[in-house]
Amino acid sequence: MKINMSHGSGGAQTSGLINDIFLKAFGNKILNRLEDAAVLSLSGKVAYTTDSFVVTPLIFAGGDIGRLSVCGTVNDLLMMGAVPKYLTAGFIIEEGASAQTLERIAQSMAKAAKEAGVKIAAGDTKVVEGSGGVYINTSGIGEVVKSGISISNCKAGDAIIVSGNLGEHHAAILAERMDVQNNIKSDCAPLNAIVVNLIQNNIAVHCMRDVTRGGLATVLNEIASGSRCGVEISETQLPVSDEVRGFCDILGLDPLYMANEGKMVAVVSGRHAKKALETIKSSRYGKNARIIGSVVEGKGVTMTTALGGRRAVDVLYGEGLPRIC
Ligand code: MG
Repeated sequence: MKINMSHGSGGAQTSGLINDIFLKAFGNKILNRLEDAAVLSLSGKVAYTTDSFVVTPLIFAGGDIGRLSVCGTVNDLLMMGAVPKYLTAGFIIEEGASAQTLERIAQSMAKAAKEAGVKIAAGDTKVVEGSGGVYINTSGIGEVVKSGISISNCKAGDAIIVSGNLGEHHAAILAERMDVQNNIKSDCAPLNAIVVNLIQNNIAVHCMRDVTRGGLATVLNEIASGSRCGVEISETQLPVSDEVRGFCDILGLDPLYMANEGKMVAVVSGRHAKKALETIKSSRYGKNARIIGSVVEGKGVTMTTALGGRRAVDVLYGEGLPRIC
């Protein structure tokens, strides 16, 4: 079945769409009430964020727009030391979209939400003219369990850890669009385990940030400017799989600037560097973590290259890859 404008009418077909696809996938006590707004119980400080997802293609190796829309928002909450609790989901569906694809996306969202421990508490569906596209907005709310984690909190002597191999989401999307056959999969994943374990092990975490659009280079520059410090990294320590490395070499891409959807940077007190690394490596989605460098006095990001030279690492300029998330 294809979605048509009548599915957005607010009438019988809209109810059918909501019941057969969205409530079937997400149903929970709060959502099932179908009130005008969800009423939630939360305690203490909360973190609150929103993100829109426009990736194309909708389904790709390692994930789909549904999984992405949960992981992206959940990870942003986690990066602030918050345990994600509830999400909202807004769907903008172009007429011509396949109901089967929508169902697959909704089921995938439900699975990712379960993995990340969040409930979808409210939602909305709109149908617009177009050619079968699907766009999703999710907002998320979580309880802050560790306050003070901030991009402005890093100090000289801190260690910088990356949670795993770089560039996989970017390479997977690009390969799909170019119709290249390879084994690269998007890394799209909720990072709850890594963050919760760091907090439970009492690691002095100063800053966390998920490494998404703009890549690691952009995140490291944000840390340097946010904390008014310098960042030094070593090219030989950057974790990149052989497959992504090969793909990058052919296309002239730099993993430092490639998007990820299941990777984060943790900046921790230097004295906790080893313990933090072990904690991340033993957490789900963290087994390829590496200490890649440290925070220093000064400004900007500098990298010691594989050949022993030193170069400045700037933020991403220009477009990057459009509609990657
Ligand atoms: Mg983020």
